[in-house]
Amino acid sequence: MKTKSNDSRIQALQAGYNWKIRSFEIASIIINISLTLFFVISLKLNLIHYIWILPLSWVLADIISGLVHWFADTYGKVEWPIIGNTFIRSFLEHHIDPLSITRHDWIETNGANFFIGIPLLILMYLFEAFIPNTIIILFALTNIWTALTNQFHKWAHTPRPNQLARILQASKLVLSTETHAQHHKSPFDINYNITNGHTNIIFERFKIYRRLEKIFSILFKLNPHRNL
Ligand SMILES: [Zn+2]
Ligand SMILES: [Zn+2]
Repeated sequence: MKTKSNDSRIQALQAGYNWKIRSFEIASIIINISLTLFFVISLKLNLIHYIWILPLSWVLADIISGLVHWFADTYGKVEWPIIGNTFIRSFLEHHIDPLSITRHDWIETNGANFFIGIPLLILMYLFEAFIPNTIIILFALTNIWTALTNQFHKWAHTPRPNQLARILQASKLVLSTETHAQHHKSPFDINYNITNGHTNIIFERFKIYRRLEKIFSILFKLNPHRNL
């Protein structure tokens, strides 16, 4: 919640957004799009045959968005190299000031998320000959949804989103304001999944994140803290 006492924290977090982070975001966008286009074009596939993968990738991206978001909120520290000043900083700023994301331009909103898929895109490039086309298309589509997740997240916070956002929200293809609003209520530990938010109901029903926290505590001695 944005209060007077939090203003200095917000300013300190915003000061962490420098030219290095901006360059990282721009490079992530260029590399991710280039590798994705490379696969789509070089495979010379009739993509219409793979249309059935679309809903699968849509579900998978929602789960990935939740796992990344949960991990950042629960264990993330701004001091961590690379991801600390990118993912963790923006999540922390966002929890203190939920409208901060609505003031970010397209690159600041989406740049870091384009980074998520790059390591796997590189692995796919190296081992393309051994990976079935179905898996490559599934990953390419999931990568696109994941890369654009923070745009959907931003729309869920925007008081008057544009017409495209309103259509996508109304058709339930992207995260709705109502679903995501639950995440910003105390104790701030539910509905982490933010691509379309449809898998939240399963994650909350089976308490998957609480179970993961227990597993992390046993295996890695990591105790949850909330980035609030
Ligand atoms: Zn969060
Ligand atoms: Zn949010």
